[in-house]
Parts: sequence; C-alpha cells; structure tokens
Amino acid sequence: SLRDPEQSFLLFDESIEAEMRESERVHNALRHAVQLDELAMVYQPQQDLRTGSLVGFEALMRWNNHGKNVPPDVFIPLAEKTGLIHGIGNWAMREVLRQSIDWQNQPAIKLKQIAFNVSAQEFSRQDFIESIEVALADYPATPDTIQIELTESLLIDDEQAAIEKLHTLKELGFTVAIDDFGTGYSSFSYLSRFPIDKLKIDRSFITNMANGERDIAIVAAMINVAHRLGIGVIAEGVETLEQRDILLSMECDQIQGFLFGKPMNSVDATLFCVNEGVS
Ligand code: C2E
Ligand code: CA
Ligand code: CA
Ligand code: CA
Repeated sequence: SLRDPEQSFLLFDESIEAEMRESERVHNALRHAVQLDELAMVYQPQQDLRTGSLVGFEALMRWNNHGKNVPPDVFIPLAEKTGLIHGIGNWAMREVLRQSIDWQNQPAIKLKQIAFNVSAQEFSRQDFIESIEVALADYPATPDTIQIELTESLLIDDEQAAIEKLHTLKELGFTVAIDDFGTGYSSFSYLSRFPIDKLKIDRSFITNMANGERDIAIVAAMINVAHRLGIGVIAEGVETLEQRDILLSMECDQIQGFLFGKPMNSVDATLFCVNEGVS
C-alpha cells in the first residue's frame, strides 16, 4: 500500500527510472532528427487587429519521429537541457531565413514580420550573433521582416551582455519580441531597460479575461505601459470573438491564436497569404 514507506519509496524510484529511460530514448532520437530530416517549421498567422489583415507568421518547430509527432513542449526543454538546442535552433533559424527569402521573392506576398523562437541557452552563447551572421550570409533575407522572440527569463542573467546583443541584433535590422510576457519574474521594469519592439502577452492572461473585470484590467495595463514606452503588443492564444473584441477595445495591436489561424505548413501558409490578400 502507499502507506508503507518502503514500498512508496520503491514506486517513486521506479517511476523516476522509467522517466530517465524515456528521456534518454528521446534524447538519442533527437540527436539524429536534423540528419534524418525529421524537423519541420510550421507557421501561425498573426493579424493586425485594426485592419483585420495578415501581418506575418510565427515559425514553430515540429518533430516527426518515425511518423509520430513529438510536441515541442516535450522536446524543446529536453534539447535545452542536453545542449541539442544549439543544433536544432540553428537549423530552425536557417530554415526561417530560407522561407522568408522564398516569400520575399513572391511579389504577391508582402509580410511585415516572420518571427522565430530563440531559447535562453542559444541567446546566451557567445557565438550566437556570429551564427546569425553566418546564416544571413548563406540566406540573405531582409532582416527587417524577421523578428526574434525571446523570453524574459534570459535577460536576467547577464543584463549588460544581453543588452549589447539586443543592440547588435537591431543594428543588423532584426526586431525583437518578448515572449510569454507576464509569466516571468521581471516584467515592467525590463521594458524600459531593454531595446524591445514588441511584447507578446502570454496566453494565460488572455484566457483569464473570461474571469471578469479584474483580469481584463491586467491585460489593459500591459497594453497601456507598452504603448507608453513605444512598444507594440500582440496577444497570444486568442481563441474567441469575445477575446478579440475586448483586445480591440483596449487598442491591442495584433493577435495570434486559433481564432485567426492554427500553425500550418509552408504550403498552406503561402495559400493563407494569397487568400488573406496581403498587399
Ligand atoms: P510559444 O513560443 O509560446 O508558442 C505558442 C504556442 O501556443 C504554440 O505551441 C502554438 O501552437 C500554441 N497556440 C497558438 N495559438 C493558440 C491558441 O489559440 N490556443 C492554444 N491552446 N494554443 C495556441 P507549440 O507549437 O506546441 O510550441 C510550444 C512551445 O515550444 C513554444 O511556445 C516555444 O516555447 C517552444 N518552441 C516551439 N518552436 C520552437 C523553436 O523553433 N525554437 C525554440 N527555442 N522553441 C520553440
Ligand atoms: Ca513564441
Ligand atoms: Ca509565447
Ligand atoms: Ca510559451
């Protein structure tokens, strides 16, 4: 029974062991994912709230391991822990640059932004800027349409180094968004200290707006502070018309979520551009 301290200890021990075996298996498979061509980027559309038009996409990684989709919430944290994030993150960055050149070359498609995610581990590496410059030399996309999404947590460590890197990125022409805003430790004071173009309000705050005025007030405050600092705002995880209408009334700039579109492969994303009549 679970009351037997020795037995419950044993159960605990076995489940940890099983978990370790599982993550070792995933780790081994992930090591070969790039060579085996198992990774792909999908693109989730982002909408301008005022005009209703498509502004761009967020690129998200997908891993098809022998026909089975492994969710990023499983393999990204593992990749971060094991250092594999550098290889797959670099692959993702190059793939996004390649795709944006492809879109930039199609006269009918004029996207304002294509965002991709960079983990703290990648960003904090000394050669991060260099790896972007190398990728840009191979895939000379116009950086001003490319947005780098970073989480707040990574800015805490070495603030001065982070600020310098952000300035270099901006000199190269990239824009920078703070991802999952509101879920970290830092919050508002960061916005004035770091050269940031956009704030992405985390989905949890958007979901909580259904609770009523108090939760709506929090989202309104985030939008307000960002705008007063000259920073644009995008709301994540917008699923309902009610959420969209509240955000519109609070003058949120952009939305992303299942309401406007789910993440889709590059062929469907290209079709989405054409259908949404981006011009
Ligand atoms: P994220 O950067 O916050 O990405 C947003 C996540 O919310 C995506 O999950 C997206 O599919 C999901 N989402 C978007 N709209 C809605 C909605 O309306 N409702 C709900 N319930 N979910 C929505 P996904 O693709 O599973 O990615 C999960 C996380 O994995 C990402 O969160 C990001 O932290 C990480 N990730 C994904 N791709 C990459 C990548 O290329 N590099 C790095 N470093 N991390 C990545
Ligand atoms: Ca993101
Ligand atoms: Ca996010
Ligand atoms: Ca997230």
